Amino acid sequence: MDLHSGLPFWIVKNEFFDLYHPLQENYKTDVAIIGSGITGALVAHELCEAGISCTIFDKRTIATGSSAASTAQLQYEIDTPLSKLIHIVPEKIAVDAYFNCLEAITTIENVFKKTKLDADFTRVPTVFLASNKQGVELLEKEYEIRKDVGLPINFLDAKQLKEYQNIDGIAALQNDTSAQMDAYKAAINLLKYHQSKNQLKIYTHTKIEKIQESKNGYELLTEHNHTVSCKYVIIANGFEAGQFLPKKVMNLLSTYAIASAPVDKNMVWPHQSLIWETAEPYLYMRTTKDNRLIVGGEDEDFQDPVKRDHLLREKVKILERKFKNIYPNIDFVTEMAWCGTFSSTNDGLPYIGPWKKGEKKLFALGYGGNGITFSMVAAEILKNIILDKKDNRLETFGFDRPSKK
Ligand SMILES: Cc1cc2nc3c(=O)[nH]c(=O)nc-3n(C[C@H](O)[C@H](O)[C@H](O)COP(=O)(O)OP(=O)(O)OC[C@H]3O[C@@H](n4cnc5c(N)ncnc54)[C@H](O)[C@@H]3O)c2cc1C
Repeated sequence: MDLHSGLPFWIVKNEFFDLYHPLQENYKTDVAIIGSGITGALVAHELCEAGISCTIFDKRTIATGSSAASTAQLQYEIDTPLSKLIHIVPEKIAVDAYFNCLEAITTIENVFKKTKLDADFTRVPTVFLASNKQGVELLEKEYEIRKDVGLPINFLDAKQLKEYQNIDGIAALQNDTSAQMDAYKAAINLLKYHQSKNQLKIYTHTKIEKIQESKNGYELLTEHNHTVSCKYVIIANGFEAGQFLPKKVMNLLSTYAIASAPVDKNMVWPHQSLIWETAEPYLYMRTTKDNRLIVGGEDEDFQDPVKRDHLLREKVKILERKFKNIYPNIDFVTEMAWCGTFSSTNDGLPYIGPWKKGEKKLFALGYGGNGITFSMVAAEILKNIILDKKDNRLETFGFDRPSKK
């Protein structure tokens, strides 16, 4: 699968961590992790910290899948608004999912504080704009339910929105609990860190073709016919996980993003907020450390990379125009543009854990707009499964979570 194309900002900004190191013999490890993106890196981090021996296999150069294309906004707000999610899954699951995301942002922050690794992690507020009158109704419902359950949230009317965010809009929700990072840098630095401490082995350019059960766990077969024997296998291969799933659980979409040339510091919008909106598909915006502005959205309901790439120029123009509608006075000059594969699930929640209870083939699939916070949750849950510790979050994110539909 072609996960992205164009020029993702993060690949230009960072070094290429191309440890060209394909597996060239049969191999044995306690835990095999398939995928070296932000999910595989966070899983490896949690396992290494717990003293669990593990090895990562990736068919590409390290972390150059979706994580290199990600705009990496970390929010507790899931793509499915809480007021809608409670009608799709039981209310407890919906509310827990929101709180788990909220907590995951701090957990990610702590991972990088503790290891002293740079991931461009910065705390920023979120502003969720009403795109129209229906959007205001949605925000009112969201405000009530989030306030009721104790999630941090403020309602801004048009005047307050202008004062706080310098946007001429109708209304918005605001909270101070979000963050942004560089997911590519984060993954690379985490992997290098554990590799340098001899806690982690990494094999690149090693595609896992098959996973077979064996007497003591699993045997993985690589593209070049080497075998990997392991007790546990963790599938952290993102949007390509369909290969290992018995049934389709996600819809693949295409999405677009543009990054501006750096703007004068005084031109950056107030608070460097993450900004998104109620329209579907939604537009979203963030800033970078070097005062670039990133705008993304314009999702399309298909995954065909040729069709997706063909639309890139047109999508750049649309994203630029939509940005101008929000901030007419900021001079946005597009310097990089890219498109990528993205995915959604029916309830907006990810899939974490075994397909069947008790299996040692574990999935870490952070699907949806909160992919990275879900990756953090997955890393903790899977570590607990391996350590044989109960983790109630499996009831929220497991394959057998209940649905109301
Ligand atoms: C444009 C865009 C914007 C986004 N914005 C946000 C955002 O603001 N906030 C947010 O939280 N999320 C966002 N996401 C989603 C987020 O980026 C993803 O959820 C996250 O990067 C997924 O990480 P991953 O490690 O699971 O997958 P990946 O980074 O794709 O890593 C999976 C790895 O598995 C490897 N692999 C696949 N199959 C095999 C195999 N058979 N054998 C060996 N290796 C294999 C791949 O080569 C790849 O390196 C965005 C995504 C895109 C594309």
